Amino acid sequence: MSRYWSAIARGLTPYVPGEQPKLANLVKLNTNENPYGPGPAVLAALRDAVGDELRLYPDPGAEELRSAIAAAHGVKTEQVFVGNGSDEVLAHAFLALLKQDAPVLFPDITYSFYPVYCGLYQIPYREIPLDDDFAIRVDDYLGQANGGIVFPNPNAPTGRLLARAEIERLLLGNSGSVVLVDEAYIDFGGESVVPLIERYPNLLVVHTLSKSRALAGLRVGYAIGQADLIEALTRVKDSFNSYPLGRLAQAGARAAMADRAWFDASREKIMRSRDRLVGELVGMGFEVLPSGANFVFARHSGHDGAALAAALRERGIVVRHFRRPARIAAFLRITIGTDPQCDALSRALREILGQCG
Ligand code: PMP
Repeated sequence: MSRYWSAIARGLTPYVPGEQPKLANLVKLNTNENPYGPGPAVLAALRDAVGDELRLYPDPGAEELRSAIAAAHGVKTEQVFVGNGSDEVLAHAFLALLKQDAPVLFPDITYSFYPVYCGLYQIPYREIPLDDDFAIRVDDYLGQANGGIVFPNPNAPTGRLLARAEIERLLLGNSGSVVLVDEAYIDFGGESVVPLIERYPNLLVVHTLSKSRALAGLRVGYAIGQADLIEALTRVKDSFNSYPLGRLAQAGARAAMADRAWFDASREKIMRSRDRLVGELVGMGFEVLPSGANFVFARHSGHDGAALAAALRERGIVVRHFRRPARIAAFLRITIGTDPQCDALSRALREILGQCG
């Protein structure tokens, strides 16, 4: 704190990202990265983009990338917005669409960046409790004035999916405000609501290339919605940073969107490993929430989540543990790694559980 800080800087409670440990040889299962990395077509596109052209600014409108995303989803280029990671896309959406007089609604257990954006942009919000099974209950979002609704599908950190018919009920019951569906993890078994954008002018869907397309290090995310919603995001972006995506990011992301085969192969491997790991965890006595994501959320009765995470770390394995809210303090959020990584985790957990009695 310094006397030079603005009132906004003083009042912020920033988001705390998962640790990026500097230690080598860790089994890193804490930030939902994809263990397989981008495909050769992406690496070739990145190499081609490194050259003399780097002295030039990138395309501020990212037209070619937006049209590659549009082609992958069967929508129009003007229905696509791109940003520096989906975090930036979400931030712009909060300012451009969700900042209204009535509060934004989101689940009490969800992506912890949402309340942070509300703090940054001074947006009122109300948290709606998940039900006893950690599911979103759509009825709780109906019949109350709101400035918008946002939730991840599948939800994070629970991994639970909300059915498309339920999302339609939410859209129909909230036609006066924007419903933002954050589909960061939808490619691991869920059904996207992107095809609904034609029918619902209040629907905005956000995706990332950080998970299923294995490009967390490149920082690319996007939103899909009707053109007038996209225009609002573009107005905010053009009032903030004309060039959020560099030439490398645009080139690599374009190649990733075009490489359907690599995308399908990597997400299918991850889904198979998830099924295998869930079987192992259940065999050890863990309760595992049904997951549609590249992570699982699991707890073991009688074992403290923080203690389990610490014991794993001593064995060179990092997973994510959230102290708050208290309802999830017993859980571990475990990213699905390669099968050998999942096996290392299972071995370590068996050892710890044995030691703990
Ligand atoms: N939404 C959710 C639900 C997430 O878990 C994450 C990853 N932390 C993001 C969005 C942001 O991802 P990125 O900025 O890497 O696109």
